[in-house]
Amino acid sequence: MAKNTTTVSDLRQERSNPPFSINDMTEFYDGGSEATKKRKLISSLILNNPAFKWLERHYWTRDEAYSSNVQCLAEVAKILRKHKLNVDDFMHYYWLVSTIGEVVSFEMHLTTWKSALQDQGTSEQQKKWLPLVDNFKIVATYCQTELGHGTFIRGFETTATYDPKTREFILNTPTLTATKWWIGEVAKTATHALVMAQLWTQNKCYGPHLFILQVRSLEDHTPLPGITLGEMGDKFGYNSVDDGFMQLSNVRIPRDQMLMRHSKVTLDGSFIPPKNPRLTYVAITLYRCQLLMLCSNYLARASTIAVRYSAIRRQTETKPGYEPKVLDYVTQQNKLFPHIAGAYALACTGHYMIDFGKRATERIKLEDLSVLAEFHGISSGLKAFCTEMSVSGHIYNNWLASCTYEGENTVMYLQSAKYLLRCVKNPKSAPLGVSAVLHNPPGKHWDVKNMQDLEKTNTVLEAYRARAYKKVAIADKYLRELQSGGDTSYDAWNKSGIKLVDCAKAFTHYFVIKTFFNMIEKSRLGQSCHLQLHRLSILLALHGIDQNTGDFMLDNFIDFEQIKLIRVKILELFSEIRPVAVCLVDAFDIPDQTLLSVLGRYDGDVYNKLFEWAKEAPLNKTQVHSSYDKYLRNLLTSKL
Ligand SMILES: Cc1cc2nc3c(=O)[nH]c(=O)nc-3n(C[C@H](O)[C@H](O)[C@H](O)COP(=O)(O)OP(=O)(O)OC[C@H]3O[C@@H](n4cnc5c(N)ncnc54)[C@H](O)[C@@H]3O)c2cc1C
Repeated sequence: MAKNTTTVSDLRQERSNPPFSINDMTEFYDGGSEATKKRKLISSLILNNPAFKWLERHYWTRDEAYSSNVQCLAEVAKILRKHKLNVDDFMHYYWLVSTIGEVVSFEMHLTTWKSALQDQGTSEQQKKWLPLVDNFKIVATYCQTELGHGTFIRGFETTATYDPKTREFILNTPTLTATKWWIGEVAKTATHALVMAQLWTQNKCYGPHLFILQVRSLEDHTPLPGITLGEMGDKFGYNSVDDGFMQLSNVRIPRDQMLMRHSKVTLDGSFIPPKNPRLTYVAITLYRCQLLMLCSNYLARASTIAVRYSAIRRQTETKPGYEPKVLDYVTQQNKLFPHIAGAYALACTGHYMIDFGKRATERIKLEDLSVLAEFHGISSGLKAFCTEMSVSGHIYNNWLASCTYEGENTVMYLQSAKYLLRCVKNPKSAPLGVSAVLHNPPGKHWDVKNMQDLEKTNTVLEAYRARAYKKVAIADKYLRELQSGGDTSYDAWNKSGIKLVDCAKAFTHYFVIKTFFNMIEKSRLGQSCHLQLHRLSILLALHGIDQNTGDFMLDNFIDFEQIKLIRVKILELFSEIRPVAVCLVDAFDIPDQTLLSVLGRYDGDVYNKLFEWAKEAPLNKTQVHSSYDKYLRNLLTSKL
């Protein structure tokens, strides 16, 4: 079918004479030219591999989706071997390229399992197990959550009891609620699992620890004796993944399969505690930073689809014979442009935190734990804030779950709030600068008198700092009053919960805006890219104020006249961003194959392809469906 010239030329026209280099913008988004090169290389290896069958995915049954994912697992192993790629690099980009199509069935294998082993395994354990994972000699998963408990790790019921006679641990899930639940890839794929269980030795429980357990035979893939494995059933998303359950009955494993980098059990069963129990959550903290990149990626995909489609879709005759593009409506811009800005902001935050996490890990390895609490406190808030930001305004079913896994969001905010309140009590300087925010009271009133003032990043950021300062102070005061009024610390904490979540949100929002401003400032981009990013960052910040006026107007820090100025400025920014909106989403550089959207296709030939795609729908295979004979005919012809 010939291309629809109107829609194609509409999109082409949006791209004529971009006032900035799209390539430079892509490199900024990716975190540098090297990163762009790596992403493109890994994309091409995946996109050109026929096993990935991107376009066929839409109508797959559960069984087909799962089966295809296992095929992808085998292909990835081949790609890694053939091209001798670094597994961690590969995984980082592979994730970004492929998750939207739900090609995720070995996320546990190459990410969670590996990082937990690197973090908590001894060097001997790493030497033995990491090559097996990297070379796909085993397929590994991570078993933490139980049917009865997810967030409350100390409440887990699975046990690992040390038997000094045989120098083995005996693993059991003694109750129904101890059943390991929600475990990615355990139902059909995994051969090994890292199992979190309560460690018992010398008749004493020492809390949850990690154990390596082989769950399936490497000969015929059947579950090993004492291990019951199964599938959880269909979910709203991630249906290509075999999330499942696991029950254990007196399963024995050798002593050296407890991860013993921090805590240890000696041959005779004596327990040696870790130097610092907090060391055990470094891996998960790093992993949460990686998630920020995915948050950005989902938002980038959604924005790409919505902006491109809005640039070819015309609706409502506003002048005789003229229907404007939907993208020309300010209401549509209000829905979309903050999300474009959000995708760039989350990428900046992700790059910054991954980099910070790497440096922090080096310090932690040298036993300098000074950064750990701050790193954990900030990244917990970021995990919640950024996943929420990336699921707002659009829905990818599988991505909604990101608000739950890797730390449920409310619980993450509460952990972040705990850290912030601790900072209020103990001002200590730390690299991410939390104390500086919480110990310098803001001025009485926001220093904005005119539209030009709204261009100043320091001034705009000060509004966010003031809000964070006030929100943390409110939560802190409320909690202390409840405690001094006689509430137990649990009751006081519970009653303050909403204020605590609010203060963590406000602080994290400040952190994201600050990081976005800083990353633009220190980038070596040319003036034209810089200008676009500056506009996006100011838009995101002002839009955030406009969405939360109650918070920002606390104590009249921002007054109503200033809010009115903000609203005028937002409209001005919309009109500046409108001509480059398509180019800004093009710079995310998401190929059609993985965008998986007829509406968002690069060439704009939407209506032809949408119609072709609809014709392929399985219900179109027959003109008269079998249900007609079964039910409809009688209904239509019966004489009631
Ligand atoms: C798609 C998906 C994949 C997953 N994959 C894995 C996997 O591979 N391996 C694995 O081990 N787990 C996995 N999980 C499980 C995930 O880690 C848990 O769902 C998560 O930790 C939350 O636990 P929960 O579901 O038991 O919720 P709960 O902890 O029961 O939380 C329920 C509600 O109670 C609230 N709540 C809980 N505690 C508190 C508190 N202290 N204060 C205030 N409110 C509280 C929460 O905010 C939430 O609203 C997966 C989950 C999903 C959705």
